[in-house]
Amino acid sequence: MPVHIPHSITEATQLLSDIPDATLLNGGTDLMVEINFNHRKPNNVISLRGINELRSWSLDETTQKIFIGSGVPYSEIENGELKRMLPALAAASRTVGSPQIRAAGTMGGNLGTCSPAGDTLPVLAALDAEIHLASVDGVRSMPFSEFVVGPKRNSKQANELITGVSIPSANGWQGYSKVGVRNAMVISVASACLAIQNDSLRIALGSVGPTIIRCSETENWWNNAINSGSQVTDSLVEEFSRRVASEARPIDDHRSTAEYRRHAISVLAKRLLQRSTQS
Ligand SMILES: Cc1cc2nc3c(=O)[nH]c(=O)nc-3n(C[C@H](O)[C@H](O)[C@H](O)COP(=O)(O)OP(=O)(O)OC[C@H]3O[C@@H](n4cnc5c(N)ncnc54)[C@H](O)[C@@H]3O)c2cc1C
Repeated sequence: MPVHIPHSITEATQLLSDIPDATLLNGGTDLMVEINFNHRKPNNVISLRGINELRSWSLDETTQKIFIGSGVPYSEIENGELKRMLPALAAASRTVGSPQIRAAGTMGGNLGTCSPAGDTLPVLAALDAEIHLASVDGVRSMPFSEFVVGPKRNSKQANELITGVSIPSANGWQGYSKVGVRNAMVISVASACLAIQNDSLRIALGSVGPTIIRCSETENWWNNAINSGSQVTDSLVEEFSRRVASEARPIDDHRSTAEYRRHAISVLAKRLLQRSTQS
C-alpha cells in the first residue's frame, strides 16, 4: 500500500487528482482501525500530516470567525486560546477518546468519517460552521447543514480534501455534553451542544438520529417565548427538554436503545439549558 506524503495543499490536491482511488489519512484514529479490521483496503494512501497549512488556526478580527485547519489535533482545540473562544468545541474535543487519540485525531477526520456520533459535529451544527474544501479545480465552502448528507455520508467530492472549518467566536454561553456507557473513552449514545449566539439559542444533537439534528422548531419556540417576555421557569425548562426529545429520531443499536437515547437527550438538553440560564 503506497503512502504519499505531500507537504502542501496544492501537492495533495494534485496527488488526489492523479490517483483518484487514493484514501486520505490524517491522525489515522478512524482509518487505521478500519484497515486493521479489514473493513477498508486502500490501494493508495495520501497522508496529510506533513502539511503545515492544515495544522494551524487563525482568528479573523473583522468577522470574529476562527478558521481551524482540518489537521489541528483535538489536544490543541481543547486548550488555550481556542478553548476561550470556542468553549463548546473545546468541551466536545475533551470528550474524544483518550489523550493519545486526542493528540493524533482531528476535526478533519471527524468530518471525513461523518458519523452521527462524531463529537465535534453537534457543535459545528449548532454554530452554523462553514466547511472549506480544496481540489485541483479550486476551493469551495459550504455550511455544515449542506456538508452532511446522510449517515456517514458527506458532500465532499472524491477529488476534494477538507482544508478546515470556520466557526464564529462565542459571544454567549455555550456547552457540550454527552452520555456513553461509561464516563471516559466512549463513543456517545446521546450528545448535545447548546449555544447562545447573538442572543439566540441554538441546539444540535448527536447519536440520536441518522445524522446530526438541529432542533430548529424548539429553537424558534424558545427564542419567541423569551423575546416576548416569558420568564425561565421550571415548567418552561421541562417543556424545552420535552420538545428537544421529540425532535430526536433515535434507533435501537448495539450501543443503546431508542427509548434510553430519547430519555438521555431530554436530560442533556435540560442540564445544558439550566447551566446557560445560571451563568
Ligand atoms: C480508541 C478510540 C476512541 C475514539 N473515541 C472517539 C470519541 O469519543 N468521539 C469521536 O467523535 N470519535 C472517536 N474516535 C474516532 C476518531 O478518533 C475521530 O473520528 C477522529 O476525529 C478521527 O480523526 P483522524 O484525524 O484520526 O481521522 P483519520 O482516521 O485520519 O480519517 C478519518 C476519515 O476521514 C477522512 N479524512 C481525514 N482527513 C481528511 C481531510 N482533511 N479531508 C477529507 N477527508 C479526510 C479519511 O480519509 C477517513 O475516511 C475514537 C477512535 C478510537 C480509535
